[in-house]
Amino acid sequence: MNIKRNYEYLLSDLNSIKGVGVKTANLLKKKKVNTIFDLLWKLPKSYTDRSISSKIKDLKIEEIQTITIIPQKYSFPRIRNLPNRVLCKDETGEIDCVFFNSFEGYIKKILPIGKEITISGKVKYFRNKYQLTNPKYISEDSSIVKQKHNSYSLTEGISEKVYNKIILQIIENLPKVDEWHSKDIMKRFDNISWNDSIKKLHNPENIGKFKENFYQRLAFDEIFSTFLVNSEIRKKIKKIKKTKKKFDIKKQKEIISKLDFFLTNDQNKTLDEINKDLCSEKKMFRLLQGDVGSGKTIVSLLSAFNTINSGFQVAVMAPTEILARQHYILAEKIFPQNINIELISGKSSYGEKKVILDRLLKNKINLIFGTHALFQKKVEFKKLGLIIIDEQHKFGVNQRKKLSDKAGKDCDVLLMTATPIPRTLTMTIYGDMDLSIIREKPKVRKPIKTYSKLENKIEDVIKFIKKEIQLGNQIFWVCPLIEESKKIDHTSAVKKSKYLEKLFPKQVFLLHGKTTSEEKEIILNKFLKNEFKILVSTTIIEVGIDFPNANVIVIENANKFGLSQLHQLRGRVGRGNKDSSCILMFKSNLSENAKKRIKILKDSNDGFVISEEDMNLRGFGDILGFKQSGIKNFKLADPLLNQDLFLLAEKEIRRIEKTKEDISRYKPLIKLYDKADIINDIV
Ligand code: ADP
Ligand code: MG
Repeated sequence: MNIKRNYEYLLSDLNSIKGVGVKTANLLKKKKVNTIFDLLWKLPKSYTDRSISSKIKDLKIEEIQTITIIPQKYSFPRIRNLPNRVLCKDETGEIDCVFFNSFEGYIKKILPIGKEITISGKVKYFRNKYQLTNPKYISEDSSIVKQKHNSYSLTEGISEKVYNKIILQIIENLPKVDEWHSKDIMKRFDNISWNDSIKKLHNPENIGKFKENFYQRLAFDEIFSTFLVNSEIRKKIKKIKKTKKKFDIKKQKEIISKLDFFLTNDQNKTLDEINKDLCSEKKMFRLLQGDVGSGKTIVSLLSAFNTINSGFQVAVMAPTEILARQHYILAEKIFPQNINIELISGKSSYGEKKVILDRLLKNKINLIFGTHALFQKKVEFKKLGLIIIDEQHKFGVNQRKKLSDKAGKDCDVLLMTATPIPRTLTMTIYGDMDLSIIREKPKVRKPIKTYSKLENKIEDVIKFIKKEIQLGNQIFWVCPLIEESKKIDHTSAVKKSKYLEKLFPKQVFLLHGKTTSEEKEIILNKFLKNEFKILVSTTIIEVGIDFPNANVIVIENANKFGLSQLHQLRGRVGRGNKDSSCILMFKSNLSENAKKRIKILKDSNDGFVISEEDMNLRGFGDILGFKQSGIKNFKLADPLLNQDLFLLAEKEIRRIEKTKEDISRYKPLIKLYDKADIINDIV
């Protein structure tokens, strides 16, 4: 068969593979294998070498071996439970092929008397005779048996043999793809083509050869295609010409001068970057990334202020009502009277909402705060100039693009995230946006003291928090979700809150998975007003909320969290000007690795540093935000091991952007690899 295929063949349905029927296809689909291309990433885990054959006299017992024999005699006992046997021979000896549960007809067909047959399997020795039980690899064509047979982590219902056959067929039929990479990039990988790389990838002898060109090239393809899609989205958004915002920077200065603190250098720097975007005729699509407590809110509010001063409306979306309210209160406090500010809340009555919607449409509200409800269809603006979204790391690239499209041509977009992640991941997840980073924290902030304690020393912890409570301070007590059993998690948190309640009557509230969002709001509000002292929780409390009076956080079972997560939790305290502490509790003595991790946390208060170190210790899979990013984990590329490839991809993208290279040559790459499913918009 000599059919000319192009890359699109790889995107075709599984049914187009010979030997894959509806049943097999459905089994594979259950494992999210929908196209031939998806199958290419099901790699052999190990292999059995059946290529070398031996003679019967040299057989080794309990080992898998291949022999060529001639069947001599059948013995089909008519007694239940006795197996069928075929006596076989070569010039050096005899062997019995034993079949349980196989029909005579089938046996006669695969082992015809007098014919030369090659078989392979594990050899046993039984009653003075060699024996092969239920051999699976049998053929008149010795070359079919004498191969390296791969084993895969199998999909239930599909045998290894079928799998091998399917993969072999695909590899043999790989379409010729035109090289999409530039010469320089190809040189870096010793000019190995995509086809050859895939072939090598499936050669079981290459298992684990991550450093070799074929593997590196394929990993690079994955990274590069992700970056390329990001770059195209960015370009597309930048191409939109918008009305430049014009505002008097003096007014911004007035607001700043009235704050009860000075902006940090990084706050000033990022504010400049945003202002420049606002004043440009290119649409802004920017991410403000900064650790918990680095002061992103004021930066975003000042950019809102400037936007309003150029005659536009601004919408600020927060993940929770409490956070929306907190931002709203701050804006009311620092902005001049003439700016109309509103909060749209789930609690607003129908009438109130209607008034707000009406005034928005008439441009009588300049600035509105709310939750995601803000982006419902019926919420319409007269002149929306900026959308600010706080703590949005759950948005994928698709949703962001949609948001920007929907926002309208004159509307800039500013997203904020308090999840510092390693640079390679930022490039991957947020590569469609421009980036502003706040690293430096306000100087007034005192570092949080971090301690570790064994669980049986809980009395020390109680003593400690008693003292803090006497000083008027509040405590977070976190019982982590252990996932294995929500029920157990729940009871342990309930138990803990009862235990604490006994020691601190009327001072303890519990937030858990079953707390409704209304109850949650009420409890958090009470805590905010210092109406009780200890908040026990199993759920992650929104990181963004400012509880200035809470200065101690106790985290039970701390080894259940990643470092970045612990750092985020810790960031809930220390927002006021008091000394604050984070107590990490452990069930048993720490392993060396765990000790290393805790030391990183104690030594550093920089979320970016911590996330890099965390990735070095644990790999990237657990890094906060990556899994939720909407980008599926790479198949081959590893943001930790392949940092050089990430940087190379970034450089190559820059080159393409700079030279304004036509990207149509990358079309097959994007079509095959694009995970965001955004291609139709692009190529
Ligand atoms: P995040 O970046 O986590 O959103 P916030 O904007 O909520 O942080 O700021 C946390 C706290 O730090 C707030 O109480 C805010 O008033 C205060 N803050 C912000 N910037 C500064 C600064 N430059 N100096 C002192 N305090 C600041
Ligand atoms: Mg915040």
